[in-house]
Amino acid sequence: MKAAKFGYTRVLEVNEAIAALAAGGGATKAMSGSQSLGPMLNLRLARPAQVVDVAHIPGLRTVSRKAGWVEIGAAVTHAEIEDGVHPPLAQHPMRQVARGIAYRAIRTRGTVGGSLAHADPAADWVVTLAALGARLVVGSPRGERTIEADAFMLGAYTTVLASDELIVSIAVPAETPATRWGYHKVCRKPGEFAEASAAVYFDASRQRARIVLGAADGPPLLLQALADEIARRGAPAAGRASLQSAVQAALPERDAIDQKRFTACVERALEHAGVFAGPEQAE
Ligand SMILES: Cc1cc2nc3c(=O)[nH]c(=O)nc-3n(C[C@H](O)[C@H](O)[C@H](O)COP(=O)(O)OP(=O)(O)OC[C@H]3O[C@@H](n4cnc5c(N)ncnc54)[C@H](O)[C@@H]3O)c2cc1C
Repeated sequence: MKAAKFGYTRVLEVNEAIAALAAGGGATKAMSGSQSLGPMLNLRLARPAQVVDVAHIPGLRTVSRKAGWVEIGAAVTHAEIEDGVHPPLAQHPMRQVARGIAYRAIRTRGTVGGSLAHADPAADWVVTLAALGARLVVGSPRGERTIEADAFMLGAYTTVLASDELIVSIAVPAETPATRWGYHKVCRKPGEFAEASAAVYFDASRQRARIVLGAADGPPLLLQALADEIARRGAPAAGRASLQSAVQAALPERDAIDQKRFTACVERALEHAGVFAGPEQAE
């Protein structure tokens, strides 16, 4: 199928993009890498009157370090993060996640901001940025506001963004010597969306402990009690039984096989982060 007719504008300033979205009164959509919007247009699941291409706005394409945080422009691509082309992200755990998103061709165009705004429950950035405690900076005619990544998604393909709001940047904590991080997803084959995923992030120097489930049909699910317990007691709190019961409590409606998949993701992510309790330590 081909897209319905729409107008197309490419802009080079954030303010121009915001003005175009506001002028559209809900009928104008931002386009970044077009790796999700393109298929939606072709399937006529999205029928905007106007598309405003934000992929080339220099202000959305930079990465900088500010007081313990790395600020990533919304139009930075997955491939740029994978390749470590932006020095503030060269050693950051996000590189490992970027490498596993879709195929290289999609990573070359797909962007962090586009992925978050699209809000596919199985998307990699949705779960990892929630685990990192990232903050989204969003612009609109009313000015800028900051949204915590774990409060951004309301449901599948639904976010708190208003139709005239543009994601400008995403701030993630810079890695520290105390950062312990892991991510694992289960896919039918490489390049496909995850059937289950988990991201874990511990940083004692920031008093932060997070375990987040992704690909759970809705927003990322935070297993905060489990994360706190592991931060407090270490590996002995990460036994299989504890992980299973935390997953069961978070996903009570899922069958046993699904729950095992999510448990395995948490276990692998913890293992990657160096916090896994082997069978001899299991409770
Ligand atoms: C075959 C295939 C496999 C894929 N596999 C994976 C995968 O394994 N993991 C994964 O995470 N993703 C996967 N994706 C999605 C991919 O990562 C996309 O790049 C991403 O979801 C959308 O980013 P984009 O920049 O292309 O956004 P676009 O397609 O341009 O836009 C997507 C949505 O975001 C909005 N938008 C874009 N930029 C902004 C902004 N700055 N502010 C506000 N709204 C904005 C658009 O209006 C649109 O609604 C896959 C895609 C395909 C086609």
